[in-house]
Amino acid sequence: MNGVEILTQTAQELGFLTAWAGVDLPLDTQQRYRDWIAQGKQAEMAYLARRLDTRLTPSGRFEWAKSVLVLAAPHAYPPPERPPDGIRLGRVARYAWVRDYHQLFEPHLHELERLARSLGLQAKGYVDTGPLSERSHAVLGGLGWIGRNAMLMRMGEGTYLTLAVLLTSAPLPPTAASYPNRCGSCSRCIGGCPTGALLGDGTLDSRLCISYWTIEHRGLVPPSLWAGIGAWLFGCDVCQEVCPWNRKARSFWQGFAPEPELAYPNLEDFFQLSSRAFERKYAGTVFRRPGRTRMARNALVVLANLGNPDYLPLVRQGAHDTNPIVRATAAEALGRLGDFDSLLPLAQDLEPLVAGVARDLLERQGCAT
Ligand code: SF4
Ligand code: SF4
Repeated sequence: MNGVEILTQTAQELGFLTAWAGVDLPLDTQQRYRDWIAQGKQAEMAYLARRLDTRLTPSGRFEWAKSVLVLAAPHAYPPPERPPDGIRLGRVARYAWVRDYHQLFEPHLHELERLARSLGLQAKGYVDTGPLSERSHAVLGGLGWIGRNAMLMRMGEGTYLTLAVLLTSAPLPPTAASYPNRCGSCSRCIGGCPTGALLGDGTLDSRLCISYWTIEHRGLVPPSLWAGIGAWLFGCDVCQEVCPWNRKARSFWQGFAPEPELAYPNLEDFFQLSSRAFERKYAGTVFRRPGRTRMARNALVVLANLGNPDYLPLVRQGAHDTNPIVRATAAEALGRLGDFDSLLPLAQDLEPLVAGVARDLLERQGCAT
């Protein structure tokens, strides 16, 4: 067996779907990506616009690279049991029900890198965080097509796929034919997106996407987007859940084990744990990306959207949070829930952001501040 065959077989034994792709992206893909960035559709995710040349033509930076081994791990696992205690409201995107995939994949990428070296090859693995476009390489390698929901998809696994890539110095083997696009005349994802983020051409505008606002965005969530966010606490799966190709998706990678505390986190954690305790409890999970304060912010949006007065005490806790983003979001939530008595002290908050939100809401109600 040659190096390509050995790497492929080992990756498949580790449970990954595999494909081989060229290093540089085709010119039309490059242009589409550049246009997308030029139109600002990456929102404040500046890292997507950085090192653009490396992302689109990795051979410039990795001169030794001749091929890319794409690894895909299905994550269509069933939901775990919901714990009986705590306030477990809101929804978490499916990929986050398990330990952080970056950490789960890393040892396997290191194993493949070591194996490549033992075969006299150079190799460098990336999981999502590097200057590479895993999804574009997956398409290039014939692993799937980009659906109108902007996700990589294939028959059987649907869109529930987590990707990683291994750049290698192995000569590119014959690649698979491009995967036929099977979206047909369907547009369920476009109609289903609660915030109108899907543009219909296989791309999305992150400035409207719930996943962006609940995970990546650091500041306040604009009031105009609250209703669309609905019960989404972390990420959003609507455009995947409505997709007919996902209906029968059941397979999942052997290293994924859904956890109740991740699929149904106790919202009290985000208000009652210190940031350090939060980091400890959610170590090794993707909740660490937004961190405690942004999870508290998201929880307040969800609690306001659900509109159940039973959870007002938690919203009031948010009004006393040490973080101004949480307090300002609590102010908006209190206004939406009609608890103007609890909103009143926030109008005197020393943080102008918080006081501004509270005063605005009170003025609209005709209350004196
Ligand atoms: S993740 Fe949600 S908000 Fe984003 S495009 Fe899909 S359905 Fe729309
Ligand atoms: S919902 Fe329909 S249009 Fe959207 S990705 Fe799935 S098949 Fe394609």
